[in-house]
Amino acid sequence: MSHVSYRAILARMRTQATVVSMIGSLVAGCAAADSVESGSASQDPQPAPTSETASSPASIPRDLSTGTHVVLLGTGTPNPDPEASGPATAIVVDGAAYIVDTGPGVVRRAASAAAMFGVEGLTAQRLEIAFLTHLHSDHTVGLPDLVHTSWVAERVPPFRLFGPRGTSSLAAYMTDAWQADIENRMSGRQPVTVDGWRIDATDSDPGLVYEDDRVRVAAFEVPHTGWAQSFGYRFDTADRSIVISGDTAPTEAIVDACDGCDVLVHEVYSATTFQTRPPEWQSYHSQAHTSTVELADLAARARPGILVLHHQLAWGATPEEMLAEIREAGYTGPLAYGRDLEAY
Ligand SMILES: [Zn+2]
Ligand SMILES: [Zn+2]
Repeated sequence: MSHVSYRAILARMRTQATVVSMIGSLVAGCAAADSVESGSASQDPQPAPTSETASSPASIPRDLSTGTHVVLLGTGTPNPDPEASGPATAIVVDGAAYIVDTGPGVVRRAASAAAMFGVEGLTAQRLEIAFLTHLHSDHTVGLPDLVHTSWVAERVPPFRLFGPRGTSSLAAYMTDAWQADIENRMSGRQPVTVDGWRIDATDSDPGLVYEDDRVRVAAFEVPHTGWAQSFGYRFDTADRSIVISGDTAPTEAIVDACDGCDVLVHEVYSATTFQTRPPEWQSYHSQAHTSTVELADLAARARPGILVLHHQLAWGATPEEMLAEIREAGYTGPLAYGRDLEAY
């Protein structure tokens, strides 16, 4: 699909206030607006209609085809929340998309984001590279969708996949599992690309895991209960630095990796409603994830340009309450409660 047609889609969606109202309002304050406004929003020659101004500045459709942006494709957890797709984040650099984690819904959310934000790199055919933080199912069950849907959409090169130990094994088993489909499409009358079904998978070591002319991607290890290896990622581009925590208990690795980065996307759970959880779940979550209070301390020292929450385990806490927990624990920097289909 051409860039021109995306402009048309974008213009059409600007007239559909319902699209934006479905996304919900940002519970963040002006810091998120500042962050968005300092991006490419000012390049958009068409002002947003008045009906959109009450919604999240981060979710107002605009053209993100140049510069570096974080697009939240899925902010969810294993819980099947229809408003929060499975964990998946796109780092969009000059229109090319680098996907971090492949939770359920990743391809459909990417299609929505492609239209909302004018990013052709988020159309199925152009989805060609992903980085896994770890191999928990909520972060990986969208991988077959990502690989095979983009192949059916006629992606040409093999899909490139990076992740911790076990990633290449996952990819190999996945290819085996879909062998009947691959053989059917390759041997039938359907036009297909020759190598699009292949996965070029790498078990990465911590450190620089990928580099091209747009981006450098570094993995760092984080503690996530039971996993021998689990990653967070730092992306450096010409104009921005972005850190994604992965699933992690509180760790100094976040402070070291961010160290004044532009955007820190971090998982979190409510320290207040955590107290209502059964003891066995409290034991698990305290070893696996980061509470609002713990994150406030880490973020104060990591000093991101904006802290964006995702993979929120709320257990009944409202977004406002979770943001208040972080404020009361002492973090005063820019802060946003991330929602699907927002861009930072
Ligand atoms: Zn998870
Ligand atoms: Zn996990």
